[in-house]
Amino acid sequence: RGKTLSNLRIGVMGGTFDPLHHGHLVAASEVAGRFDLQRVIFCPSGAPWHKTTPTTSAEDRYLMTVIATAADPRFEVSRVDIDRDGPTYTVDTLRDLHEGFARAHPHDSAEWFFITGADALTEIVGWHEPDGIIERAHLVGVTRPGHQLADPGLPEGVVTLIEIPALSISSSDIRQRVSEGKPIDYLVPEGVARWIRKHLLYADHQHSGGAS
Ligand code: NAP
Repeated sequence: RGKTLSNLRIGVMGGTFDPLHHGHLVAASEVAGRFDLQRVIFCPSGAPWHKTTPTTSAEDRYLMTVIATAADPRFEVSRVDIDRDGPTYTVDTLRDLHEGFARAHPHDSAEWFFITGADALTEIVGWHEPDGIIERAHLVGVTRPGHQLADPGLPEGVVTLIEIPALSISSSDIRQRVSEGKPIDYLVPEGVARWIRKHLLYADHQHSGGAS
C-alpha cells in the first residue's frame, strides 16, 4: 500500500502585481489564517487579456513578487501564467497548478482556494470557462472595508468575501506616486521599492484612470 493520503489546503493568489504591495501580503496571510492554508502560491498574470494599457514586463512583476514573498515559508511564486503563451485565463492557472501538484505529490490530495481582488471576481461569470474555475477552487474575494461590491451572480457557497483594511494600499496609487516622485516607503516591501528605483519602473507612468 502507498503512503497515507494527506490533504493539503492550498491558496492561489492571482493578480497582476504591478507592483506587489503590503496589502497583497496582508490579504494572503489573513486568508491563509482564515482557511488554515499550508501554502499560498502567488501567480503573477502573463498578458492580462482584459487590459488595454500596457503593464510592466512579466519578468519584472515576477521578480518583485519573489523578492516580496521570499521570507515567508508559507508563500511561493509560480511562473505558470507568465510562461504560458497567450492571455491569462484563471481556468488554465488552476489546471496547470493541479497537474503540477499531482505530478509532485502523487499520494496526496489538495483542496484549492483561488484568492483575488473582489472587484475582479465580480466579473467571473464572463471569464473563460467559469464552471471549470468553480469546480477546481473555492473563490475568495478580498476587498477593502466598506467597498460596495456588485453581485458576482454565483451560486451560494462558491465565493467568500473578506475585508482587508490593508487593501487601502493599491498598485495604481503606488504607480502614480512613483511617477510624481512621491515616497512609497512602507507601502511596498523594501526590496520591491529598491527594484522599482533600480529599474526606473513607473517613472514615466501615464495615469490611465483605470481600476489598477
Ligand atoms: P485587476 O482588474 O487589475 O484588479 C481589480 C482590483 O482587484 C484592483 O483593485 C486590484 O488591486 C485588486 N486585486 C487584484 N488582484 C488582487 C489580489 N491578488 N489581492 C488583492 N487585491 C487584488 O485584476 P487583475 O490583477 O488583472 O486580475 C486578478 C486575477 O484574476 C488574476 O489572476 C487574473 O489572471 C484573473 N482574471 C482572470 C480572467 C479570466 O480568466 N478570463 C479575467 C480577469 C482576471 P491592485 O491593483 O492593488 O492589485
